[in-house]
Amino acid sequence: METAEIRRRWLRYFESKGHSVVPSAPLIYDDPNLLFVNAGMVPFKPYFLGQQTPPWSRATSVQKCVRTGDIEEVGKTSRHGTFFQMNGNFSFGDYFKREAIEMAWELLTTAQSEGGYGLDAERLWPTVFKDDDEAFALWRDVVGVPEARITRRDENDNYWHMGVPGPGGPCSEIFFDRGSDYGVEGGPAVDEDRYMEIWNLVFMQYELSAVRSKADFDVAGELPARNVDTGMGLERIASLLQGVDNLYEIDEVFPVLDRAAEMTGKRYGDRSGHDAAHSHPDDVHLRVVADHVRSSLMLIGDGVTPGNEGRGYVLRRMLRRAVRAMRLLGYEDKALPELLPVSKDRMKASYPELETDFARISQIAYAEEDAFRRTLVAGTTILDTAVSRAKQTQASTGGQAPAQLSGAQAFQLHDTYGFPIDLTLEMAGEQGVQVDEGGFRRLMQEQRDRAKADAKAKKAGHGSTEVWKELRALGATDFRAYDALDTEATVSG
Ligand code: ATP
Ligand code: MG
Ligand code: MG
Ligand code: MG
Repeated sequence: METAEIRRRWLRYFESKGHSVVPSAPLIYDDPNLLFVNAGMVPFKPYFLGQQTPPWSRATSVQKCVRTGDIEEVGKTSRHGTFFQMNGNFSFGDYFKREAIEMAWELLTTAQSEGGYGLDAERLWPTVFKDDDEAFALWRDVVGVPEARITRRDENDNYWHMGVPGPGGPCSEIFFDRGSDYGVEGGPAVDEDRYMEIWNLVFMQYELSAVRSKADFDVAGELPARNVDTGMGLERIASLLQGVDNLYEIDEVFPVLDRAAEMTGKRYGDRSGHDAAHSHPDDVHLRVVADHVRSSLMLIGDGVTPGNEGRGYVLRRMLRRAVRAMRLLGYEDKALPELLPVSKDRMKASYPELETDFARISQIAYAEEDAFRRTLVAGTTILDTAVSRAKQTQASTGGQAPAQLSGAQAFQLHDTYGFPIDLTLEMAGEQGVQVDEGGFRRLMQEQRDRAKADAKAKKAGHGSTEVWKELRALGATDFRAYDALDTEATVSG
């Protein structure tokens, strides 16, 4: 089933259950705590917090999301994209656990010929919060899931709050068992690769009076109006319904991967097991290309331009990382003019504005690739000079110690010329020269510590919220996440 059809069925189903269909908000939303919208509930936050009265008691959407905190997972797990779409249904003081659970089950298990997704009920494994006997009983008695397939999990996995006093409540998540090719038996608490999380149902039920950490808070009492917030990963269910191993192989993403494989002469998937974590490095690079090209397309489409901080920096890193991955695959020509149109053609069915706005979008992306190519040229000259000096030094000392670039040289290449460490390692290695990677990492750590102190100072004054935890992680450790972008592409498996 095509992703566009999965989305249509979602909206049609919840519309038939009295939900108002609300269009996706743009990725950049008016919220000082957020770099990008990262969950379907974000545009509805004022309703959940009781700050505004919702115009409807039930709503549904397919929300564009970007989670920068998941960048490191891309290509390695089978289920994390930097851009993805979250299907959601929301109740504002209307239905609660029973209906939310019943509807989720019905949509997932109703035959495809009757408008559902037709998933095998035996392979669905719900989880509940450990003390939520009500949800446990609903899954067992109303839906009929055998007890052995219902897992109770603690606050760390199955409790939602915003990190501050206010609404909170238990979650119930639905996992799909992908089978023994994907990992070991035992349920989601044992193996989250084999048992893939597809849908999270959040039951906002309590007023929290104090929140000390994710798992440490005080419940003051029941909320007067109880709300439901759910999120299902559109790409995740698409991967199941299309019978592919991971998000990068679905209809909205794979054509870019395929084109990249053709351009680089690589045969994707030849050497991979089902387990994405043990894939060949070339396959990981190809997935990174496919994911990042699409995310860049969507970000530029929503008004982000490459820059040196904040949102612009995330986009810049994403574009550069895609270009880098192509180079690691042996492709040195301009890559984006070949790849971006492929992504646009796949996404325009759901987002027609990508087509009408493509001249602007592509110009921004291609200019960034050109700039990065110039960076590479500049850095390459510096690197070559440093490499020949290292060789001279080695020769003048009688050739006993191996030729080596210092940590400071590698750091300068990174910091001043935007030259990623893995490129330095690779290109020096090709000429028989080592790099003091430990020294480089120490200098990076020092820079990171400085950035952390800066970010902390900048962030002071903003309230933080749990649902945006990866944003906070990014805010507090900007350079850790960005650095990972640099080094990620060559880490194998
Ligand atoms: P995971 O534990 O797999 O990282 P999550 O618990 O962080 O997922 P939620 O915050 O519960 O995810 O989001 C609701 C749903 O959105 C998830 O059940 C999943 O289907 C989907 N989702 C979350 N993160 C991603 C991602 N990076 N790429 C694709 N889909 C995602
Ligand atoms: Mg996650
Ligand atoms: Mg999870
Ligand atoms: Mg979850």
